[in-house]
Amino acid sequence: MRFADLTTLKVGGEIATFHEATTTPEVIELVKDSWREHDEMIALGGGSNLLASDDEYPGTVIKISTRGITQSDAGSSDGKVLLTVQAGELWDDVARFACESGLSGIEALSGIPGSAGAAPVQNIGAYGQELCETLESIEFLDERDGEIKTLSASELDLGYRTSSLKQGRRGVVLSISLALKKTELSEPISYSQLAAKLEVELGLRVGLAEARQAVLELRASKGMLLQAGDPDSVSAGSFFTNPIVSENFARNLPKDCPHWILDPEAPESAVKLSAAWLIEHSGIQRGFSLPGSSAAVSSKHTLALTNRGSATAEEIMQLARFIHLRVLSQFGVALQPEPVLLGLSL
Ligand SMILES: Cc1cc2nc3c(=O)[nH]c(=O)nc-3n(C[C@H](O)[C@H](O)[C@H](O)COP(=O)(O)OP(=O)(O)OC[C@H]3O[C@@H](n4cnc5c(N)ncnc54)[C@H](O)[C@@H]3O)c2cc1C
Repeated sequence: MRFADLTTLKVGGEIATFHEATTTPEVIELVKDSWREHDEMIALGGGSNLLASDDEYPGTVIKISTRGITQSDAGSSDGKVLLTVQAGELWDDVARFACESGLSGIEALSGIPGSAGAAPVQNIGAYGQELCETLESIEFLDERDGEIKTLSASELDLGYRTSSLKQGRRGVVLSISLALKKTELSEPISYSQLAAKLEVELGLRVGLAEARQAVLELRASKGMLLQAGDPDSVSAGSFFTNPIVSENFARNLPKDCPHWILDPEAPESAVKLSAAWLIEHSGIQRGFSLPGSSAAVSSKHTLALTNRGSATAEEIMQLARFIHLRVLSQFGVALQPEPVLLGLSL
């Protein structure tokens, strides 16, 4: 098996040992065996946030394909409904299930590819919602002591596209629990583009099905929905995170550079910048590609790097390094990759 067969970017080399686990006891046994043998090991979901090197991976990859969603009214905070989801469930099936069951809180996360188990790893977010707003806890097989623990969301250092799991806390997510509100209405719409698509004012609520449909349509228009006929979706989604800089630094950027003050109350707050704007204004346009390379910037969105058919991981990285350098030399901002890089660095 190759990473190219298992990831949405369709690149990456051979895997020395590959297993797929469809039940939780199977996941636990395979993971523990691999730890016992001191193997290098990674858990894999949908491969939609992973860029692996073209070289052979010498360790073990365990693809987690467990399934199951259960609902309970007990045990959640604020009388919400608790949804417990096995790690291998497709995230978008969870979002669809919630919308169809009259449960709000994750409708704006509709259409994000990948598995439920990977969702807390980078605290998935889109269109004004982040997983941390509804994640109650995870069931976690901890590499430190081999124990299965329930970790509350507050123990995971969830932040903008990050968590302690992404930053090196080793182990495997077996299931996640979400606390969702029982209502047919969405959370207040807090993202301008989504509000415009729905033709409502910011802060208003719409029906869950309507919110989900609008998000799916917006995502499709940007190549951010995995679709067989869309070459722009052969990507890992956004390749760079929006950089966070000091207010002082942001003052010296061009006035039209979009920015969001993260804590308006603070005297010197951090400021989030638009990575897409920085890339475009460093001279890189949609569809851009280096000469002779099969890696290209998406034709719909400058933040996504795509495989145009026969790209290697190295070609994707060359394009990423080129963009990184252009933005650094033009604006002094070092973009950070969003996907997990395996055997590669910028
Ligand atoms: C077209 C497209 C659009 C996207 N849009 C968004 C978006 O809007 N917002 C967003 O946040 N992300 C987005 N992404 C990125 C991606 O979909 C998410 O990060 C998703 O959560 C990754 O899930 P996965 O199962 O594919 O993870 P994988 O790529 O399989 O794994 C990613 C990382 O998580 C680890 N991991 C996976 N499963 C487990 C587990 N059970 N336990 C412990 N570690 C695990 C892996 O080892 C790896 O380090 C997009 C990607 C694509 C291709």
